[in-house]
Amino acid sequence: AGCSTTEKQEPYTARDFKLDTEIIITIEDSQAPKICSHILQRITQIEKKMTLFSNDSEIARLNAQAGLKSVEVSTDTHYVLSRAVFISTLTQGAYDPTIGPLVKLWDIGSGLATVPSATGIQKAKALVDYKSLQINNDSGPSVLVTRPGQVVDLGGIAKGYAGDEAKRILLEHGVLRGIINLGGNVMAIGSKKDGSPWRVGIQNPLAPRGTYLGIVYVTDKAVVTSGGYERYFIKDGRRYHHIIDPATGYPADNSLISVTVVTKMGIDADALSTGAYVLGLTEGMKLIDSLDGVEAIFVTNDKKVYISQGLKNNYFQLTDEDFSYD
Ligand code: ADP
Ligand code: MG
Ligand code: MG
Repeated sequence: AGCSTTEKQEPYTARDFKLDTEIIITIEDSQAPKICSHILQRITQIEKKMTLFSNDSEIARLNAQAGLKSVEVSTDTHYVLSRAVFISTLTQGAYDPTIGPLVKLWDIGSGLATVPSATGIQKAKALVDYKSLQINNDSGPSVLVTRPGQVVDLGGIAKGYAGDEAKRILLEHGVLRGIINLGGNVMAIGSKKDGSPWRVGIQNPLAPRGTYLGIVYVTDKAVVTSGGYERYFIKDGRRYHHIIDPATGYPADNSLISVTVVTKMGIDADALSTGAYVLGLTEGMKLIDSLDGVEAIFVTNDKKVYISQGLKNNYFQLTDEDFSYD
């Protein structure tokens, strides 16, 4: 005791594959391995409740009772669905957690690479309607999916929530800074040790993963990107990707190739990036600029970059000369 050594703490990185994506946690703490495994257990728990890849997740059980009866759910699922409906309202249904019938029909990423029939698309589209979810909390959390055939799909929001929970666990353990990356959903927690902001790279949608077009400077923010460039198939020269426009039933087809949302909560950033991508540049940017504490970077297929009002004072740096501001 009394001997003051400045103990040099090395960054610790944990990696795992969950929620259909690679999770990377980087923190500095003497208890880092234990804390990271605690976080990964929590993410596993969230995945088990929300996945569509298993018949006994809460969401699968909910969907199985569509049009039949209300299902008791955990507070996790109740919260995520409530937030999902809130973001649906904000985006006027561009983000819609009942997108499931269309996601199933298109089955992007299965390798099938076929365009569904127009009647199939119309039928599935008619089932997409977040307003028909009945989310209750009177005698415990429960949800009713009102119409038979409706399918809840939390693929556009669950990773965001997992990021928020991961952050909460870090803070509970007294870890005040660090980076959690859930396949492009980045939680930048606190600031760097010297007090300066984290630098988060924004993926160049036209280049291999890990190639950045710019850097956003953030303190204690979620940075979440949605794009049509990772999961898609090409048929007759057209690209069909995994973000579906509930209004048309087809993959969102506007000038955008990616939207990155920067805000406090991962859950909001995730759902809003999906929603803004569907809304398109003009409507999407209008929405982002109307929301307090929410910023965004939109990238179009002609390599133009558009940033929201709040990023305009050097919070974003464009680094790839291939891209330019409009
Ligand atoms: P990623 O999965 O690449 O992180 P997103 O966060 O944008 O990208 O989520 C896309 C996923 O969300 C799709 O795989 C699908 O499960 C679901 N989804 C697709 N379109 C919509 C939509 N309009 N609203 C809500 N969820 C959607
Ligand atoms: Mg999303
Ligand atoms: Mg996402």
